[in-house]
Amino acid sequence: MKIYREGDKSKAVCGTDGLTTTTFALRDVPFDDGKGVAQNILVAVCDRCGAVVATPPQSTPAIKAAYDRATISIEANLPSVYTDALDLAAYRIDPGLTTEFRKPLLMYYINRFAADRALSRQLADSLDETRAFFEGSPKTGRGSARRRLSMKITPTMSRELETVVEVTALNKTDVIKSVIGCIHKDIVAPDKPKGLKTLRMLAAVAS
Ligand SMILES: [Zn+2]
Repeated sequence: MKIYREGDKSKAVCGTDGLTTTTFALRDVPFDDGKGVAQNILVAVCDRCGAVVATPPQSTPAIKAAYDRATISIEANLPSVYTDALDLAAYRIDPGLTTEFRKPLLMYYINRFAADRALSRQLADSLDETRAFFEGSPKTGRGSARRRLSMKITPTMSRELETVVEVTALNKTDVIKSVIGCIHKDIVAPDKPKGLKTLRMLAAVAS
């Protein structure tokens, strides 16, 4: 791949001028969704009208980083046993982890579900089982304490969560419940936790 510098010349198609010569320069680039700009990005500028007409691959990571700096808050009000299950899973992965690991652990799973629609559909199927296990019957009065799970996530993570919400036709809180049920089944319940090696690597980079 070619690396470009400020002042380099190239050619690109401009919306106004058609095929045109361009000059690379630093500009503020609006995000695709229009919600903000990435500042000081190397782009190809049309020599005729000054519009930004192309973005070289080397600028993509900086644009993505700027986009993901905009955070989205998600909140779920859950029976406290759900967050306890997340924390117990974290403890099992590495006893040195803190509640800070809730987010990377959840998002790691949500990323996997977002990438696999068939796997996501199992989440919808297992929600009742998860609920029965964690929440039991209302008669017993067990697990009535609730805790707020609130996290700041990146727009990229938010899109993945939206994908799982769409595939499962569950609301966000139920997706989170069902994912925690899955984490419990993979990591907390078995004698040998599933995917421990990968999860320890995740813990090493996330904490
Ligand atoms: Zn132009």
